[in-house]
Order: sequence, then structure tokens, then C-alpha cells
Amino acid sequence: MTKSERILVIGSNGQIGSVLVEYLRGIYGENGVIASDLREPELKQDYFEKLDASDAFALAGIVKKHGITQIYHLAAILSAKGELDPLNTWQINMQTYFNVLEAAREHGVKKIFYPSSIAVFGENVDVTAEQFSYLDPATVYGISKAAGENWSNYYFKRYGLDIRSLRYPGIISYQSMPGGGTTDYAVDIYHKAVKGEHFECFLKEDTTLPMIYMSDAMDATVRLMEASADQIKVRTGYNLAGMSFSPKEIADSISKIIPGFEISYKPDFRQQIAESWPQHIDDSVARKDWGWRPAYNLDKMTAEMISELQKKYK
Ligand code: NAD
Repeated sequence: MTKSERILVIGSNGQIGSVLVEYLRGIYGENGVIASDLREPELKQDYFEKLDASDAFALAGIVKKHGITQIYHLAAILSAKGELDPLNTWQINMQTYFNVLEAAREHGVKKIFYPSSIAVFGENVDVTAEQFSYLDPATVYGISKAAGENWSNYYFKRYGLDIRSLRYPGIISYQSMPGGGTTDYAVDIYHKAVKGEHFECFLKEDTTLPMIYMSDAMDATVRLMEASADQIKVRTGYNLAGMSFSPKEIADSISKIIPGFEISYKPDFRQQIAESWPQHIDDSVARKDWGWRPAYNLDKMTAEMISELQKKYK
């Protein structure tokens, strides 16, 4: 059964958006979900609006036109790309979010999803990041996500806006390509392996990072958004964990299915970003508050990634 929500997804052409729009349409119906991005999607969609979310007037216009009740605000410049132009990254990440918050407050939007990131943690976090760790992010992207989380909490307390947020780890998907993050290698590696090519990794072999499979990320996102408001005790961002592994461990997992797969290591500036992040995430608060449980471990994800990409490259 579909539900009578009108959902706006901002940044719908990206790695998460392109999968999330389909996932939400499965729940809320085709016309219940309006996709939007800076550019038209590759495949034409009926319910799509071209939008630069830094334009407050244009964003408010779309919210009014469609009677939007929920916004998923995905548009952002990611961790690695963000370091190439820090001030512009801050400007885009914050201005687009302020425009979402204000459009929601002024035009009766009931719920907002704000994707935060493990990049909010910095070098003083423990190997395993607790929910209420000290946040000293090392990248402009992480600084903008930590600020966004605090603004979410502020708008909830001050205006009663029902904003919910997850600190996503690196997301791994076969459906879409990543957009300039530090965990991108963990998607690229599967494409190279399935094409029978050598993979050169931009991180060192033992750099363990928290990751999650797209299917688990979708489940967590909708589970959080559908939980009753009194279950949501954290109004900054919930820690979320799927699995943690290093480049060597993912390569070993791939080799079990594709023997002879080869990897070499040539760390670049992203190594430093990775070293500022925790290796593991403690998501016990999300598990307790709204029943989060991941379904995929590394080998289960590897089997599905390889079988799906083999269909794609056939
Ligand atoms: P992505 O880079 O693949 O996609 C972002 C999309 O936003 C792009 O299609 C881009 O065109 C669009 N966009 C950029 N500026 C815009 C603007 N001004 N107006 C409208 N659209 C604009 O990113 P993603 O991986 O899909 O990530 C989505 C969100 O999830 C981001 O906020 C990101 O920080 C967060 N996140 C992602 C990951 C991950 O591993 N992918 C991990 C943690 C957090």
C-alpha cells in the first residue's frame, strides 16, 4: 500500500539518490517522490525537477508546488573532492542545508532526512567511535557535516522540525558509482575485479574503515524515517555500522570468488583523510532506539556485488 506523503529528494542523481528514489517509490508510489538535482538524470523521469539547492527561492518554489511533506537532502560535496576547494565546499554544503531548513519551516514540511558521515570524527576519536564521541573533524566536509548535525538539533529544539540523521559509513553499491569520497575504492575494486583488471588502491593495505552495503543503508534510512518520533532520542546524527575492513581484506574476499585477482597499493592524499577516521563504529544506540540491524557482512556483500556486476558487464 502506498502512503500519502510527498517526498522531495535533493541530489537524486548521485550514488545514494539514484538508488534511494527507486526504493522510496516502491513504498510511497511513483508520484509520491519528486527527484531533483543540478542536472537532468541520464534516463528521463516523470517526477523530476531541475534544482540548484543553493537557490533558496527555487527550492521553496518546488516545496510549495508539490506540497512537499518530507525532504531527503542528499546534495553535498564529498570528503575527497571537498578538500580541493574548501571554502566552496563549506558554502555549498551549508547554504543548501540552510535553504532546506528554512523552506521546511516556512512551508509546513513535516520531516527531514539529513545524511551525516563518519567524517564528523577526527584524530582524537577512539579506534571504535562511540555515539557521543568528541568531534574534531579533519576535512571541510566533516566540519560541514558536524555543523549540519548541530543545526538539525537546533531546528528540532527551537522550531520542533522533525529532522533525523545517520552518520553513514562508506557506502558500497553495484547500481551507482560514488561521487568523490575517501571510501570510493571499495566500489571501484569490484568493477576492476569483474572486468578481470588489476586494481591500484589509493589507500594502504591495512587501512581499516567502516563501510555499509547499499541495501542495508536503504533499510536503515527508511527504518529511521518511519520510526515514531518518541523513538528518536538522538537529534544530531546516529552512528550507523555495517562492517569494517581494509583494502587487503576486501581483496581477499574477492579472491575467494575470482582467483587470480590482483591489487597493488599507491596511497595518495586520501590516506591522510582515512587515517583521521575511526576504524569501527559503535551503533548500539541506533540498535536500541529504533531497532537497527545490518544484514550484510563482507563476504555476503562481495558475492552479491560480483554477481550483479557480472550481469552488467556481460
Ligand atoms: P554524490 O556526490 O554521488 O551525489 C550528490 C548529488 O548531489 C549529485 O548528483 C550532485 O549533482 C548533487 N548536487 C550537488 N550540489 C547540488 C546542488 N547545489 N543542488 C542540487 N543538487 C546538487 O553523493 P552521494 O554519495 O550520493 O551522497 C549523498 C549524501 O550522503 C551526501 O550528503 C553525502 O555527504 C552523504 N554520505 C555519503 C556517503 C557515501 O559513501 N556515498 C557516506 C557518508 C555520507
